[in-house]
Amino acid sequence: MDRNQQLFEKAKTIIPGGVNSPVRAFGSVGGIPRFINKAQGAYVWDENQTRYIDYVGSWGPAIVGHAHPEVVQAVCQAAKNGLSFGTPTENEIRIAEEIRHIMPSMEQIRLVSSGTEATMSTIRLARGFTGRDNIIKFEGCYHGHSDSLLVKAGSGLLTFGNPSSAGVPEDFSRHTLVLPYNNVEALQQTFANKGDSIACVIVEPIAGNMNMIPATTEFVRALRELTERYGSVLIYDEVMTGFRVALGGAQSIHGIKPDLTTIGKVIGGGMPVAAFGGRADIMANISPLGAVYQAGTLSGNPVCVTAGLKTLEIIQRPDFYTTLSKHTRQLSDGLTAIAREANIPFSSRSEGGMFGFYFTDNLPSCFADMQNTNQILFKEFFHAMLSRGAAFAPSAYEAGFVSAAHSSEIIADTLGLAAEAFTEIARTV
Ligand code: PLP
Repeated sequence: MDRNQQLFEKAKTIIPGGVNSPVRAFGSVGGIPRFINKAQGAYVWDENQTRYIDYVGSWGPAIVGHAHPEVVQAVCQAAKNGLSFGTPTENEIRIAEEIRHIMPSMEQIRLVSSGTEATMSTIRLARGFTGRDNIIKFEGCYHGHSDSLLVKAGSGLLTFGNPSSAGVPEDFSRHTLVLPYNNVEALQQTFANKGDSIACVIVEPIAGNMNMIPATTEFVRALRELTERYGSVLIYDEVMTGFRVALGGAQSIHGIKPDLTTIGKVIGGGMPVAAFGGRADIMANISPLGAVYQAGTLSGNPVCVTAGLKTLEIIQRPDFYTTLSKHTRQLSDGLTAIAREANIPFSSRSEGGMFGFYFTDNLPSCFADMQNTNQILFKEFFHAMLSRGAAFAPSAYEAGFVSAAHSSEIIADTLGLAAEAFTEIARTV
């Protein structure tokens, strides 16, 4: 029996669904998840020793390529000095300063261990700061799995066709107002009706959890203008887009200064680090300074912070984002050209090292558009590529990631595989 299959069967006997995070289970595409035991540069290897060109990148963190030698060396060095102290360390100051240098809107910063903790904490902080209960989020945006945010969310929830989670009390979800993404009118109307009760608006400024859908300029301007007018906190959830779509994240592209920002993924260089931060007057409400409680045994873990610091150093080297963007565009434009040649309805977009592709001719601009893409073709394409040695995320509702290790030649190899895959699936169109 295939070793991936063997391990999956065994995993299911002890781990629910055989996985420790739902989208890993291949639920929407079917088949056996690959059990990966090695990753280097642009590649991952499974338990059968099969190599794949990897466009998942650990769901975003692997921007400098897997197991980058400088990151690995820094981590090994740090580990020798102790794995965790539970005290303040100098490197926590360094990484916070580095983050503020890159994202100046983050005047004060707190480190946590996951994106979920970061977004959950910003919601509590915004509520504590404003003394209001209601929050606004957008359909198809995923902000981690805390109760208030698991309402009409994206990512794994969409993959499994159940955008709101069981187990979230009605009392919680009624404070979460869910609006359509990129719809200025709905936003204006909600603020006109309930503006004084809204603690915050949380948004994925370039959504990546209903596949990749950027916010329009009008939408972003309305977000900033209305939150300012009504005294609500604007939260940019840049857990995915931070250091990914551009060094300074989506806020640097939009020219917007959010009140609070959440980051994760890239900031840990593959280890569990995330952070939230923003206006100093709001952050002053966090414990021990203020009354909003937030804590973590392993927050600012010294080994993880070292991985993050080294990653931040690498991504600030000359031309890092120019090359990353060029290669990501090569992939996205190349896929579109090949698919069109094969008469397959297809479109694609990219920003920095992030891309999305859709089995439809017109680029989607909201969740409803995404629902109209051809999921069957996605599934066929996914497996046609996987069997040829290129791994994309196992869901039509996830964005993809290119790393600095994905050379132009590796992208060209991928496009060669895609030409075969599109020809194969064209037969079913
Ligand atoms: N926010 C966004 C935009 C995300 O994409 C994710 C995870 O994919 C999260 C928050 C949650 O992060 P984590 O999985 O580290 O808890």
